[in-house]
This record gives sequence, C-alpha cells and structure tokens, in this order.
Amino acid sequence: MLTLLATSTGAAVTGRPVVVLDPGHDLNANTETEPIGPGSSTRKIKDGGGTHGVVSGLREADLNLAVALRLRTLLERAGIDVVMTRTRTVGTSIGNIARARIANRAHARLFLRIHADGSTDPSVRGTHTLYPAYRRGWTDDVYAESKRAAGIVQRALRSSLGFPDRGLQERSDYTGFNWADVPVILVELGFMTNPTEDRELARPAVRERAALGLCRGTLRFLVLPSGRC
Ligand SMILES: [Zn+2]
Repeated sequence: MLTLLATSTGAAVTGRPVVVLDPGHDLNANTETEPIGPGSSTRKIKDGGGTHGVVSGLREADLNLAVALRLRTLLERAGIDVVMTRTRTVGTSIGNIARARIANRAHARLFLRIHADGSTDPSVRGTHTLYPAYRRGWTDDVYAESKRAAGIVQRALRSSLGFPDRGLQERSDYTGFNWADVPVILVELGFMTNPTEDRELARPAVRERAALGLCRGTLRFLVLPSGRC
C-alpha cells in the first residue's frame, strides 16, 4: 500500500484521490463505550460485533472484508489511492471514532463503510445505504456530499447486485458518521439473516458484483469518467 501524505483537498502526494474503505466489525466485539459525536454525553458501545449468515454460518466481518479487499483492487486499478481501516479479521474492533479518524487523517474524498445487515425476521432482505443526518457542528460540513454519494452508490450497488432496493436512510445516531469530517456513507449489502441473500453473498461471483457496483458508484461520485472498474 502506498504511504499517503494527503493534502487538504483529498489528493495525496501522488495527485490521486483518496478513498478510505472501512470493512465493518472485526473478530471480536468491543463493549467499551464512546461518545456518539464530539462533545456528546450520549455514549454507545464501540462495536456490537455484527451479524452472521443464517445458512452459511459466515461472520459478517469476514464478508465485509472480502468485498472491501476486492474493491480496493478495483479502485487502485482505476487510479484511486485506497486506505483500509483494517486488512485482517483477527482482533477486537477498534470502534467507530477510530475508524472515522483514519478517514479524516487521510482527507478521504469518500469514507465508504461496508456492512451486511441482520434482522429477527428472516424474510427481510435487500440493499440499502445510510448517510449522516444533518446536525450543525457535527455533520453540516459533510451532509450534502454524503447524501449525494449515498444516492449514487446505492443505485450502482443495487443494479450490480440485483437485490431488492431498500433505498437510503439518514442516521443521527451513528458514531462513525458524527465524527467524520469527510463525506461518509455506510452500505448494507444485504441481509445475512435472509437465507437467499446469505447464500448469494457467500458466493465469490456475487461478492465480485458487489465490489464492482461499489467501484462504479465511487467513480461516479468522484466524477472520474475516465476511470473504469
Ligand atoms: Zn455490520
């Protein structure tokens, strides 16, 4: 991976845009708490640990990482410098402030968080993308661009993955959003608690489609028409 000395415009010394990929969770949950935004007295646990495949038994953290690593390759080929919040699934989750700080330090043009969802209802399925709600002092500087990114990436991901479209969702309670000083979105690829989507997401060909959709959406958001995924 390249060593990045990013400038305030999000262009690294290489002159290429920087994208930070954040594969959600890790091997172990982290039940320590952290404030949900700068100066907030409301605290949430750092990481509940994620979901797992109801049929495959796969851990969400492993799925998220597999898609992120494939996406890294695609983005680098398209001329993007990629920074990862983690490249292995081996330890206790660092929590969401730490993840946001990695993106802030890199002056990311996009902080792309990759997750899969879980529900107590196994029939719930589909792809959706979350972005930060507007709050002055926390997300006012990244709200509009995050919302724009969410729409573009959701559309590209949905069309390449082919799961039902659950659309976009604004969230005011996501620590990793409220601490971000760069445009940030969180994609929920599908539901690992839905047997159909769990089986699909366990297949390498489907993960490849997920990575392709995320790559296309990212390039469209960055307005890099010359870049190809
Ligand atoms: Zn998750």
